Amino acid sequence: MKSKPLLIFDFDGVIVDGMPEYWLSARNACTEVLNAEYDSRALPNQPPEAFRRLRPWVHHGWEMVLLAAEIIRPNSPLSQNGATFFSDSYQANCTQALNVRNWKPNQLQSALENVRRKFITKNKDEWLHLHKPFPGVIKRLNQLDNEGCEWAVVTTKGLSFTKEILNCFQLTPKRIYGHEAGTKPEVLLNLKRHFDIKGFVEDRRATLETVIADRRLNTISCYLANWGYLKPNDQKDLPKGIHLLKPETLATPLASWP
Ligand SMILES: [Mg+2]
Repeated sequence: MKSKPLLIFDFDGVIVDGMPEYWLSARNACTEVLNAEYDSRALPNQPPEAFRRLRPWVHHGWEMVLLAAEIIRPNSPLSQNGATFFSDSYQANCTQALNVRNWKPNQLQSALENVRRKFITKNKDEWLHLHKPFPGVIKRLNQLDNEGCEWAVVTTKGLSFTKEILNCFQLTPKRIYGHEAGTKPEVLLNLKRHFDIKGFVEDRRATLETVIADRRLNTISCYLANWGYLKPNDQKDLPKGIHLLKPETLATPLASWP
């Protein structure tokens, strides 16, 4: 017999806004990988405009480290031509940036996670306070139980970091999956075997498009969280199967969701 229905949430950009942390950890990881080539203290503490603007394109944490590296590299396409130019060919520009320095994604991901671990060891409260829940989301998650629904988190963030932040906000999802568990479609497929999936709330449109294109997953209701890190045209002409979720709809009973 299947368990209670399960509503699945992405983490960054859906539950939590961690922009100050993404930047600090990315720039510190970047300077660590660059060794003594750059001094992180020479970089701003606040996220630069280019970093904020490119965040909606980020799929994996390591890309943020790469973006920090491109922001500080004087002749990079990003510093020369700006964020719009970079985002127009985001994948190709990331590949080129990796090649320029002969970097591998897993090396940048490890650097990011090392920096985060060190930060937490040194000052956990400070680290946690760099993350803010989006308005109304915690309250809504805590109401789901009254509607007979459980919820889960599926994220590309590391599991341990996700757990730290959820604990800080006293949130206790039924399940939590970090990038270690595989891609989001893989995790959804696995969850679908055990739960009646009520929906998947995510702020990365490309991920939702992958889900609706997969015939094993296309019965899942997909919701694009419009309060998250969205590209300028993400809300326009959504394909059938992806519903726009606004904060006011999130606040309504599940039965009234599109
Ligand atoms: Mg997200």
